[in-house]
Amino acid sequence: MNKNDYLKLLVEDMHSTTVATIGADGHPQTRTIDMMLWDEQGVYFLTAKGKAFYSQLMEQKYIALSATKDKKSVSLRGKVQNIGSEKLDEMFEKNPYMQEIYPGDTRSALKVFRLYEASGEYFDISDPSHVTRDSIIIGQPEAVVIGYFVGGACIGCKLCYSVCPQKCINISTTPVVIDQSRCLHCGRCGSICPKQAIEKRG
Ligand code: SF4
Ligand code: SF4
Repeated sequence: MNKNDYLKLLVEDMHSTTVATIGADGHPQTRTIDMMLWDEQGVYFLTAKGKAFYSQLMEQKYIALSATKDKKSVSLRGKVQNIGSEKLDEMFEKNPYMQEIYPGDTRSALKVFRLYEASGEYFDISDPSHVTRDSIIIGQPEAVVIGYFVGGACIGCKLCYSVCPQKCINISTTPVVIDQSRCLHCGRCGSICPKQAIEKRG
């Protein structure tokens, strides 16, 4: 699957997401926000100007979001921008329930935000013995590599493989190689490695 497949899944299939910002007390706050549109430039949602959420978006210009359905999940962290009323009518057209929540011209209380530069991941545990993960990039966020990686100090003892819950380490080569698309980031391999050959990044 590519970026567009993941954004389509997020907006058209999962739709309702949990969005986090930082509250005025300095602690994280979450609320459920529907993602209403997507295109090459990002993901779109809206909120009313009177809400604390709106003020936080304007001040912080950054969110983290997560959504899940059928044991598949999408998480994204990144920058948002207020694009005013642009796409508002299109959002109401594609999401007709909004016309009942904000009938007539009351939609003028709403502003549209675009998540335009973000990174995150897709995680699928629908087959628990063979989980799948992938990264998702919107725009050009600073590259952040996360996960566990085996370095040149590996002696091929295979201890890491013996404790890996997903058996996602290729032990046919030395250094051994972790399959990043299946790794749970549990850290068991790194803890047992006698050569401290496994580096945690991110
Ligand atoms: S436990 Fe460490 S040294 Fe042994 S195979 Fe795994 S990475 Fe290599
Ligand atoms: S972090 Fe966990 S799942 Fe990933 S390779 Fe190491 S032991 Fe396996």
